[in-house]
Amino acid sequence: MYREEFFVETNSHEEAINITNKIQEIVSRSGVKNGLCNIYVPHATAGLIINEDADPNVMIDLFNALRKSIPNHAGWLHDRIDNNAAAHIKSSITSCSVNIPIIDGKPGLGTWQGVMLLEFDGPRRRRVIVTIIS
Ligand code: ZN
Repeated sequence: MYREEFFVETNSHEEAINITNKIQEIVSRSGVKNGLCNIYVPHATAGLIINEDADPNVMIDLFNALRKSIPNHAGWLHDRIDNNAAAHIKSSITSCSVNIPIIDGKPGLGTWQGVMLLEFDGPRRRRVIVTIIS
């Protein structure tokens, strides 16, 4: 088992940050040729997804779709506590972890796929934990 962590400083209230290069570097450092890479964010208002990273409009569309589906201040009960209920819901449905197979020493991502950290309540400092098993 191999584990590394790194931090991402987000700059906006909502944004997608491409962490694919970081994941590729960590997989390479692990020396694992065939196994599984788990990426995890220990946060309740951030998300992780794997999707297209070639056209930035894909992430803009995703954020717009999430905002339409989960509007801010729509009577959410948790807004009484710290006013970020929509961010918690978006984090829940995009998940806090993803798995990628490691094939021949590289993340087995598709040509158009990248790993994105999604910020829903920034700017904040986000911790990313990468665990690799062979
Ligand atoms: Zn909250």
